Amino acid sequence: MSEERVFRKQKKIALVAHDNKKPELLDWVRVHRDELAGHTLYGTGTTGKMVAEKTGLPVSALLSGPLGGDQQIGAKIAEGDIDMLIFFWDPFEPMPHDPDVKALLRLTAVWNVPVACNRSTADFILSSPLMAEDYHVDLPDFNTYKNRPIVV
Ligand code: PGA
Repeated sequence: MSEERVFRKQKKIALVAHDNKKPELLDWVRVHRDELAGHTLYGTGTTGKMVAEKTGLPVSALLSGPLGGDQQIGAKIAEGDIDMLIFFWDPFEPMPHDPDVKALLRLTAVWNVPVACNRSTADFILSSPLMAEDYHVDLPDFNTYKNRPIVV
C-alpha cells in the first residue's frame, strides 16, 4: 500500500526567503494577501516574523534558516504537515547552510510537494485552480524501499 497524502483546500504553505530576496517575498505576499489569508502559513524565523509583522497575516515562525529552520520545514514536509514551499533563495550568495537548503529541496522532490524558487513560479502555483480543491498527491510506493532486504 502506498502512502496517502492529500493537500486540503486550506493549504499549509511554507515561506522562506534569503536576506536579499526578503523584499521580493514580502512584496509577493502583499500582492496575494487575500488569497494567502485563506491558507495556513509557516515560515523560517526571520522570514516568518517579517511577513507577520508587515502584513498582519498569522505565520507560524520556526527557527531561523541557518539555525535549523530549513530542516524544521523539511521535517514538516516529510510528516505531511506542509503542503507547499515558496522558497526565494538567493542564486548570487553562498550560504553557510547550503546543505540544509539542498536537503529541504530534496524532500520536496521525495514527497511531491510543489515548490516555487522564484516569483513567477509562485504566481503560477497560487493561481492554479487546484489551490481551491483537495488534491490527492501521487506518491511512489515507498514499501519497496522500506522492505528492501538488509544483510546483517
Ligand atoms: P530566515 O531563514 O527566514 O530565518 O532568514 C531563511 C533561510 O533559510 O536562510
